[in-house]
Amino acid sequence: NLSVHFPVTKRRLFGSDTQMLRAVDDVSFVIHRGETVGLVGESGSGKTTVGRAMLRAIDPTSGEVLFNTAAPDAAQSQVAVHTLSGTALRQFRPRMSLVFQDPYSSLNPRMTVRDIIAEPLVASGLMKDRAQIDARVRDIAARCKLNLEHLRRFPHAFSGGQRQRICIARALVSKPEFVVCDESVSALDVSIQAEIVNLLRDLQDEMGVSFLFIAHDLSVVAQISHRVAVMYVGKFVEYAPTEKLFFSPRHPYTHALLSAIPLADPDANFAPIRLKGEIPNPLTAPSGCRFHTRCPFAKDRCSTDVPEWREVAAEHFTACHFAEEFDFSRPNGNASEI
Ligand code: SF4
Repeated sequence: NLSVHFPVTKRRLFGSDTQMLRAVDDVSFVIHRGETVGLVGESGSGKTTVGRAMLRAIDPTSGEVLFNTAAPDAAQSQVAVHTLSGTALRQFRPRMSLVFQDPYSSLNPRMTVRDIIAEPLVASGLMKDRAQIDARVRDIAARCKLNLEHLRRFPHAFSGGQRQRICIARALVSKPEFVVCDESVSALDVSIQAEIVNLLRDLQDEMGVSFLFIAHDLSVVAQISHRVAVMYVGKFVEYAPTEKLFFSPRHPYTHALLSAIPLADPDANFAPIRLKGEIPNPLTAPSGCRFHTRCPFAKDRCSTDVPEWREVAAEHFTACHFAEEFDFSRPNGNASEI
C-alpha cells in the first residue's frame, strides 16, 4: 500500500493554490531474494518514485517498505525501511543501492575509478582499512570486467558501456541485497544494452542480489525480469511472471504496450492497438479506472468505479473490472520467442 504524494503549488495572478500530485498511489508488490522484477510504464507514470521510495531516498506518504534481510550481522530479520532515520538509516543504507540512468553524468570526473567504486564503503563507514577496501574494490571490479589499469584511470577515458560497468561495480561494492536499476541501459546502444543485461544476470547468479529493473523498453525488461509490473498514472495495472504477462496479459493497457513490439514471427504478433490521446496529468488523474479515457474497452462503470487490485490467476494480479472476460493471449503461442 505504498503511496507517495507531492504538494504542487501553482502561482496565479491573485494568490496561489496547492494540489496533491499522486505520483504513486496504493502500490503493493513483493520482490523475492535473487529475483528481478521489471517495472514498466510511460514517462511520468511513477516508476522512479516507486524505486526511490523503496530505497528511502524519498519518504513515502503512507504504506510500508518491508525488507527481509539475510545478512548474518543484521540485528533483526525484517526491517521496516519506511520507519528508519538518522544513524539506523545510515547503517542500513549499504544493504540497498541504485544504478542511475546516465553513466556520463553519474561519475565524478575528478575521481579515479578506484575511488569512485570505493566511495560507498568509505561514506557508509563500512570499511576503514585501505588494504581491505582495495581488496573489495578489486574483487567487484574484476566481476564487472574491469582490470587494475582501469582502476587507475578517470571516467573520461571510458565508453558508455564501460562507464555503466563502473556504476554497477560502485552499486555492488557494499554487497547490497537489493539494487534499483533506474533506466540503467536506456542511454546505451542496443549491443551494449545486451552486454550490461548479461552482466547484471551473471552478478545476480553469483551474489544473489535482487533487482528492481525500471525501464520503458519492454523487450529489454523481458530479457532480464522474472516478473514484471506495469504502471499507469501512479497505479499498478498488472503484475505477473514475465512469460504470463508477455504471453497472455489481462489488462488492456499491457495489451496495448505489447502490441507495439514487433516479433520476428508475424503470426505471434498482437493486432496493433492505437491508444487515444496522451497519458493524463497525474495532478488531474481521471476518476474511476485511470485508463478509462484511453481504453478501447471502457464501459460506463469504468469512469466511476475504481477497479479492485486482485489475483486473476496464480501469481497474476491486475486492476480491471473485466479482466476475467478478456482473452488477450498471443495468436500463435510460441513463448520461447518472447
Ligand atoms: Fe478499460 Fe474499464 Fe478495464 Fe479500465 S476497468 S482497463 S477502462 S475495461
